[in-house]
Amino acid sequence: MTSILVFVEHKNGAPRRASLEALGAACATGLTPIALATGPGAANAAAPLSAAGAKKLVVVTGADSYSPDGAAADVVAAVKSHGAVAFLAAASSTGKDLLGRVAGLLDCAPLSDCTSLTYAGGTFTVQRPILAGKAIVTAQSQSAIFCATLRPNTFAVATGSGSAEVVSVASAGGKVTVTGVAAKGDAKLDVKEAPVVVSGGRGLREAAGFKIVEDLASAFGNAAVGASRAVVDSHWRPHGEQVGQTGKTVAPQLYIAVGISGAIQHLAGMRTSKVIVAINKDAAAPIFKVADYGIVGDAFEIVPALTEAVKKAKAAN
Ligand SMILES: Cc1cc2nc3c(=O)[nH]c(=O)nc-3n(C[C@H](O)[C@H](O)[C@H](O)COP(=O)(O)OP(=O)(O)OC[C@H]3O[C@@H](n4cnc5c(N)ncnc54)[C@H](O)[C@@H]3O)c2cc1C
Repeated sequence: MTSILVFVEHKNGAPRRASLEALGAACATGLTPIALATGPGAANAAAPLSAAGAKKLVVVTGADSYSPDGAAADVVAAVKSHGAVAFLAAASSTGKDLLGRVAGLLDCAPLSDCTSLTYAGGTFTVQRPILAGKAIVTAQSQSAIFCATLRPNTFAVATGSGSAEVVSVASAGGKVTVTGVAAKGDAKLDVKEAPVVVSGGRGLREAAGFKIVEDLASAFGNAAVGASRAVVDSHWRPHGEQVGQTGKTVAPQLYIAVGISGAIQHLAGMRTSKVIVAINKDAAAPIFKVADYGIVGDAFEIVPALTEAVKKAKAAN
């Protein structure tokens, strides 16, 4: 059985959605999807990963602290021992870090942040946005082992049946270990993974103007707040919320841009969103060129009305 290895990020065995999507992409190839999870609670991931299509779970033991080079060595060992023809991970910070290391160790070309993946006749074909999202490249890997990261919110999670076989392997260990992670102290959704992102820009006038954006995001219940670089540079919002070329790349089901002009560097981070709504008082703002729905007007009138409409719609369902 030809297999494909998927690195799964998890919190005490609860897989990140972006990793489940990578597993879903692996399932869609028709190859046998093998998940690999490392760190505390990795074995707890067996049930959710089985439900998302994994046929096997490799639990790496003895890696209580995450080690970037150690995890890469563990992935490579699993790829080799299972004869996997491909390695996939989410295009998260961890996935991006791992991709370069794994591809280097396997002497293969890495393909990052892919938005489509197909497998036919023994060849993997991907699509990935380039030039700040203005063009889409279609690429095929000539490497012996295909290595790629997949953009979150782009691939569907699969449904599996039965229980994945669980095997434990000892970690090779690494030269570097992460000794501590300082949590931000809130449980906010990350813009990269939220299905809905409500972003604000300089049109909100001041930091306090983001209240209307936060209210709309909380009315949705599953939304994250995003920001343009102009407001991050002005210290209105934290850099972790910045969307764009020098911020995060997002592809949610719904992206709402409030008081954002739509500079090319901002579009680079959000133009692959499924549905884009722009609210701007300037009808000529470039953001309207990529928007599916545009509302020309004052954000301070429109957004609160939208928030009320979302609340009513949710209450009616
Ligand atoms: C190398 C480089 C990297 C960059 N990386 C990024 C990046 O990652 N992300 C990013 O976002 N930018 C990035 N930028 C900056 C980018 O070029 C823009 O300057 C920035 O995106 C503008 O932010 P903005 O749209 O919030 O502000 P502005 O361009 O000032 O736009 C504000 C908008 O608000 C509208 N508006 C004003 N009042 C209201 C109101 N009451 N209601 C509704 N609309 C209103 C205006 O019509 C205007 O369109 C980068 C630039 C460079 C050079």
